[in-house]
Order: sequence, then C-alpha cells, then structure tokens
Amino acid sequence: MVEQSSQSYNQQQAIQAREARKYVYLFREGNGKDKKLLGGKGAGLCEMTQIGLPVPPGFVISTEACLEYFESGFKFPEGLTEQVRTAVAEVEKAMNLGFGAPINPLLVSVRSGAAISMPGMMDTILNLGINDNTLHGLIERSGNERFGWDSYRRFISLFGSIVLEINDEQFHLAMERLKEDRKIAADTELTVEDLKDLVNIFKKIIIDNTGKSIPQDVYQQLFMAIEAVFASWNGKRAIDYRKEFKITPKIANGTACNIQTMVFGNMGGNSATGVAFTRDPGTGENALFGDYLDRAQGEDIVAGIRTPKPIAEMRNAMPDMYRELLKVRETLEQHFKEAQDMEFTIEEGTLFMLQTRNAKMNAAANLKTSVDMVNEGLIDKEKALLRLDPSQLTQLMYRQIDPNNTLQPIAVGLGASPGAASGEVVFDADEAEKQAKAGKRVILLREQTKPEDIHGFFASQGILTAVGGKTSHAAVVARGMGKPCVSGAADIKINHITAEAYVGGNRIVQGTVITIDGGSGKVWLGEVPMVEPEISENMDRILKWADEFRRLGVRANADTPMDAEVALRFGAEGIGLCRTERMFNASDRIGLFQNMILADNPEERHEAVQKLLPLQQEDFKQMLRVMHGFPVTIRLLDPPLHEFLPSEETIERQINVLQKCQQALGDVCKLPQILEDIDPSLQTVLAEDEHMLLNLSEIQSNELKQKIDLLQKIRTLREVNPMLGHRGVRLGITYPEIYETQIEAILMAAGELIKETLPVRVEIMIPQVCTSQELKRVCDMIRRVERRVKDRLGIYVLYSVGTMIEVVRACMRAGRLAEMAEFFSFGTNDLTQATFSFSREDAENKFLPFYNEHKILQDNPFEILDVKGVGRLMHITVEWGRRARPDLKIGICGEHGGEPSSIEFCHRINLDYVSCSPYRVPVARLAAAQANIKEKRGIIKPFQ
Ligand code: PEP
Ligand code: MG
Repeated sequence: MVEQSSQSYNQQQAIQAREARKYVYLFREGNGKDKKLLGGKGAGLCEMTQIGLPVPPGFVISTEACLEYFESGFKFPEGLTEQVRTAVAEVEKAMNLGFGAPINPLLVSVRSGAAISMPGMMDTILNLGINDNTLHGLIERSGNERFGWDSYRRFISLFGSIVLEINDEQFHLAMERLKEDRKIAADTELTVEDLKDLVNIFKKIIIDNTGKSIPQDVYQQLFMAIEAVFASWNGKRAIDYRKEFKITPKIANGTACNIQTMVFGNMGGNSATGVAFTRDPGTGENALFGDYLDRAQGEDIVAGIRTPKPIAEMRNAMPDMYRELLKVRETLEQHFKEAQDMEFTIEEGTLFMLQTRNAKMNAAANLKTSVDMVNEGLIDKEKALLRLDPSQLTQLMYRQIDPNNTLQPIAVGLGASPGAASGEVVFDADEAEKQAKAGKRVILLREQTKPEDIHGFFASQGILTAVGGKTSHAAVVARGMGKPCVSGAADIKINHITAEAYVGGNRIVQGTVITIDGGSGKVWLGEVPMVEPEISENMDRILKWADEFRRLGVRANADTPMDAEVALRFGAEGIGLCRTERMFNASDRIGLFQNMILADNPEERHEAVQKLLPLQQEDFKQMLRVMHGFPVTIRLLDPPLHEFLPSEETIERQINVLQKCQQALGDVCKLPQILEDIDPSLQTVLAEDEHMLLNLSEIQSNELKQKIDLLQKIRTLREVNPMLGHRGVRLGITYPEIYETQIEAILMAAGELIKETLPVRVEIMIPQVCTSQELKRVCDMIRRVERRVKDRLGIYVLYSVGTMIEVVRACMRAGRLAEMAEFFSFGTNDLTQATFSFSREDAENKFLPFYNEHKILQDNPFEILDVKGVGRLMHITVEWGRRARPDLKIGICGEHGGEPSSIEFCHRINLDYVSCSPYRVPVARLAAAQANIKEKRGIIKPFQ
C-alpha cells in the first residue's frame, strides 16, 4: 500500500516535472544570452525585441524540445503542443490577427536556428497559416489579390518540398512551363490568373506525390513544419556541415525552431527585403553593406534567385528606410559589441528586423574590424583578440594574383570571397568531390549553388557562379570557409545538362583550367601567376597585441635558412625543430650520405661522414646566422637509414636491365673476333673497338656488382617496423660517427659565428630517447666533441642539450631525463602514435575517418591533441620533469604546435613555447594570447 502510494507519488512528480518544463519562449521573455537553449537566431530575436528594435512578434521552441523529440523516437515532448498554442494566442493578441482566421489571418514563418550559425544548412517555411479560407482574408487585409495568390503558391512549394519532401524541381519546372506558356520571362509578370493556375498545379503536385491534399488545418501545418525543422538537424547537409566545421554536441546540440509573424517584403509598393552587414564582410570597412530586393521575400536573396541591388541604392530609393536601417545598425553594434549580419523586411514603408547574428567575415575583414573597434572605443584589446578565430589567419596566407599580371580576364563577377585559385572546372558538387579525391585541384562552376552542394565547396579550390550577389549562398558559404569565390559572373552562360559553359567566344568544359580572384571578381582562362601573401598592417597590429598578452613562446619548425626567414617574418622567436635529415637529402650530399650508410666498417664510415662535415657546418651556420641570436633547436638525425636509400624495387629493376645489357654486351664483344676470323686484314682497325668494348663491359660489370651489393645492404637494413626500429638516438649510439659529425658541425658553425661576434643560441636535441643511459651516452659524446672544438677554435661554445619526448617511456622517466636534459620538446606526432599504437602513416587514410564519422574518436588525434590520453602523459611529464629541474624549458614541436585548441592545452600545462610550421606562426601567436586571456578571465583553468 505504502509502496503503491509512493510509486504514484513519484509518477506524479515526474509528470509535474515534465509539465513544468518550459519549451516555448516568447521573444519578449527568452534569455538572449542562452544560444544553446534558444539557438542563435532565436536568441538574436529575443535580444532585438528586448532592446526595442522592431521585431515581428513570435516565439522560440527550444533546442531541448528538439533533442527530446529525437530521444523519444520522433514524438513531441509532453506539453509542447499546448505551449505552442498558448504562444500563438499571445502573438495573435499582439498582432490583432487570428491564426487560421478567415478575416485578418495571422501567417507565420517557421525557421530553424542552432546554437551556432550554419548558414543555409537547415530549413525555413514561410507564409504558414495560409489555406483556401485564410487566403481570402489575406487578400482583403492587403488589398492585393496578386500578393495573396503569390504567397499561397510560395507556401505550397515550400511546404511541399521541405515538409513533404517533394523534389523542389517539380515546382520549379511547373512554374517555368507556365511562364513559357504565357510567354513571360520574370516571375513578377505572372498575373493573378496565372498564379491561381499555379496554385492548382502545385496542389496537384502534392496530391500526385503524397496521395493527400496539402493540409488546410493551420495547426496541422504548423506542427508538421516544426517536425520538419527538427528533422533538418539530422539532414545530410547539416551533418556534413557539422563534420566539416567540427561542430560537436558540446558546441551545438539540436536546433531551436522560431515561429514568427510574417511580414511581407513582396506586398508591393514600398516593400522590400534585404540582408545587411553592419560592416563590409569582405573588407571590414565600417559602413553598412548588403543587398536588397524590392517586392521580394527574404529567400529570394539568400537563394540567389534574383540578383539583388547594393544596399547603397536604398539611400535614394527608400531614404527613410535607409536612415532607420542605419540607426538599427548603430544600436546592434553598441549592444552586441560585434559586427552583425541582419535580415530585414520592409512592409509598406515599415522596417522589421528578422534576424541578427555575429557576422561571418573573412579573415582580413575580421582583423580590420578588431583594430577599428578598438580604435572606436567599442571594445578593448582583449576582446579584439578573443573575437578572432586563429585558424582564420591562415586564409591571409593565401596566394594572390600577381599584380604584374597582364593576362586579360574572360569575365568579371563580384569578388565574393577573397583569395585567388586556379583549377580545373567541374560543373557539379559530386564531380568536384570525385575529382578532388583523384588528386585534382578543381573550381566549382555553377549557375548558382544550393545548400546541398556543400561537399563540392569542401572539395574545391574556389567557387564561381554566374548568378547571385555577395550575400548569395555561394558567397556566404565560401566566405565562411575562407575559399575564394566569384559570384554573379553573368557573362558566363552555363548549360548544366551538357556540362559546358560559354563566355566571350570561349568554350569551357570539365577539365578546362581557369583562375578566379575572389577579391576583384575576375576570371581568367588558364593559370595566372600568383604571389605569396605578406603580413598586412592590421594583422601586424593584432599580432603585436597578441604578443602583449601571451605567455607561451612561439617558435617555428624550419629545416632550411629559407624556411627560417619566413618564420622570422611571421614573428617566430626561434626554431623549435630543425630536422637535419632534410639536409642529407639534398642532391649534392645524398650520394655522400649513402656512401656513409653503405660503409662496411667504422673507418670507412668515418671517412664518408667527414666529407659531409663541411657541408653540414655551412648549413648550420646559415641557419644560425639567419636566426641572429634567437634559439635554434637542431635535432640530431632521426629517421631510419633505409629512408635515404633507393627502394629495393628500383635497384632490382636496375639490376635486371644491367644483366640484360651484360648479355647483349657479351655478344657484341665477340663481334671483332668473328670479323677478324673472316677478314684478318681488319685486325688493326678492330683493335680499338675491341678495347672500347672491353672497357664498357668492365664498367658495366662493376656497376652491376655495386648494385648487387647495394641491394644486399638495403635488404640487411630492411626492418619490419622501421618507425620502431633502428632510428633516432638508437642509430646515433650504434653508429656514433653520424652524431659525432653532426655535433661537430653544429658546434663548429656556432663557434665560427661567435668568432665573427654574431649572437648565437644553439640547442642540440636528441630524438626518440627512452632511457637515461641513451641520453647520458650522447651527452658524453657532446662533451667530447665540445673539447675538440674548443681546442680547434680556442673558444667555448655555449649550447644546451635536450631531448624530444615522443616515446611513452620517456614520459614515465621524465624526472630522471630532466637531470641531464636542459629542455624537453614534445614530439606529439610520434607520442600520439605511441600512445594510441596507431601508425601515423596509415591511420589517417585507413580507419580514422570511419572512427571520426562514427564518433569512436571525436577528432583526428594527429591533428588535434588528444588531451585525455596524450595530454595527460604530457602533463605528468611536465610535473615530473620540473620537479627534478625547476627551470626545465619545455616546448612542443609536433604538428599540434600550430593547432589552436592544442595550443590552449599547451598553455594550460604551462609549456614554455610551441613550435609549428612557419605559416602557422601567426595562428599560434594569436591562439597563445587567447589562451592567456581566457585563463585570466576564468574561462579556462590550468589542467589538473
Ligand atoms: C614528432 O614526432 O612530433 C616530431 C616532431 O618528429 P617527427 O615528426 O620528425 O617524427
Ligand atoms: Mg618524431
């Protein structure tokens, strides 16, 4: 009895808890800061409503409702429908309209909106609430019959394609057929009668495809639309987008659904719709930027169906509205302290705001905005740094068209996303993906793009469209990705069926190479010369600010003086890793190095290695000279020796050819004797040839012998697991001549520069160390060489010795290693490989993509540092290492040293520096500053 009552009590509580759960928030009550709950769009609408901007009334259904919908097997959570009905009643009251009412009907839009903006990735339904009855109320209310029917046909096609999943081509084709029939070109020329016909045709399409009529019950329409919006979160487009931009459930989980009173930019007369940025997203110029279309609905612009007008034209065409828009711009920036991207509609001379969100700008524009906003006093330097995405800086490392280029473009469109790209033309997204997978660089050329083309964007070097403005789908998406894009190149006539395009007498087919410049909007046939980027004034300013705020040092991985120069230009404060193997691979010394490898005894090896000494010494000298007193960490030879030798197959092939030659030569060598036997008078004439042939034969057989020896040697060096074999310090200890020569070359180079009174800071780094004995042996070797160098040059060369930490045992012995090593450098490429036991050569193209797709692993650990495993090992290493040597300098030189989230982790475990490729140095400087600012603001904490 007691049990029963407590059970029913619990059930009741559960019901109450569920009932109490709030899923629906009116714009006037939602917390605009809670994007996770309300989605970005919903939060923006709440915020705009609450700061007094003109927002048509509406409400948001939370992302929680969406998630519960999925969890419960596509059922609305309990209480949701009632809450929606209550909210609709509130909107009806505010608007003095009735949802489904035959007189003064309320129409709404139903839009998706996740916590993070995913432009065009999910679905929107407009004009919902229209049916055969309310249509007449709408016509009466607007006094515009054409508008009413136009709204109805738009609703049916949107509802049909998005909610009922009918291919939208069917609606599009039906409309084109009707236009052809009526001999008209523009949609706006359709008469009321035409639109009535179209409504009937569209209704029939719905019946033909679904066997049912379009719902007339407006609540049925609404709930079906909400379900479609929820479902779009798990549509292919949205999933692809999240994958590409690494949007994890932690960042955005589920979509909210926004239901808002419709306002009509297509009502006629003084009506329009537009998309505007508070600053130019392409240049960052502090001026209203955007496009608008009169007598149109919002989707016309975003979809790039009609080419819109620049917003500046509104200044004359609709001066009052333009002024109001400028005021809104001011209010939004003051409130959000961030450039905004907004959607607006003007209905018969009244401005309404439909959306605001932080503007996606390209890297250059973002930098300028950060600098400008600080100068305008809108934000401080910390905020200016935090608002930037460090990875975006790499966009500014993109190549540009050579300013001296004289080639004439074949077309000019709008420069929609800067940067230049060359590639072979492809006409559709699938082909782009296919060709890119085959290793081709492609440019996606389309009339216009649609959200489902997203995979084609990922695969292409750049995007070119014949239709659409700077806020068309192609432009927005390309800018977000930092890919060059030219839109609206109207002279290019494309036939997607035959996959060809014509422009100014030129025919473009798949595979035709073109170049586009997303800055100027120009398009060329063929490949146009390009130039490497430089650090702009704004980037320089930002990076200098970053330097003021960061605690982590930033160095570069550079193997040549040229790389070192680039690194310095980008602000590196030293070389964190100079891989010396690249020096041996250069064409003037690979032969010498191979001789060293093939030597049969230490004496021969020593002799071969001595020939390399001056060459290496010169390399190191140049490197140290360029770095002019900044630290240069030179790593002793790391890879296994067989990497420097030709493959077995190559040698086998050569041996085969030589053997065939030998046989042929043997026959030819018999020829003089045969001729002599036939005619003895030829003896003197043939003597010379005979001699030459014998020489040739001897050369050939020597060559053959050498190749056979080489093959034998290569076979001896062959290892089953070369990456775990005879390499790194193990090689250095067993073939000490190699390391001794390298050490001598390093110290001699440093010594000679010191004698020239140049500043030098040299660090010798030992790879693959796992025991302290290994380290000790190499340290002893270094001291021996040091004494030799001192005797020769008569000066002491200051240097430090450290070890890479790239082996799990090295982490576990960090304390012991730190007794000898003055610095540690995490080789997280190998450490990741060792921690996971994943071969770094194979994992990325074999199973990692599957692992990532199926969430077995969140990220590729060779790209993004695995904090929970590799990171934990690093943390332990830092603690134990510093316990033994408090001033132990610790850095990272694996690829992760240039990846922003990994850099943040390096900050959290208190490394001294990160080292990355020269082109990522700016990224690292900014990411390092952000980490420090975030820690200061309590956003991140030291790793525990
Ligand atoms: C590493 O292992 O992280 C490293 C920098 O060395 P390499 O990539 O040359 O093996
Ligand atoms: Mg390594």
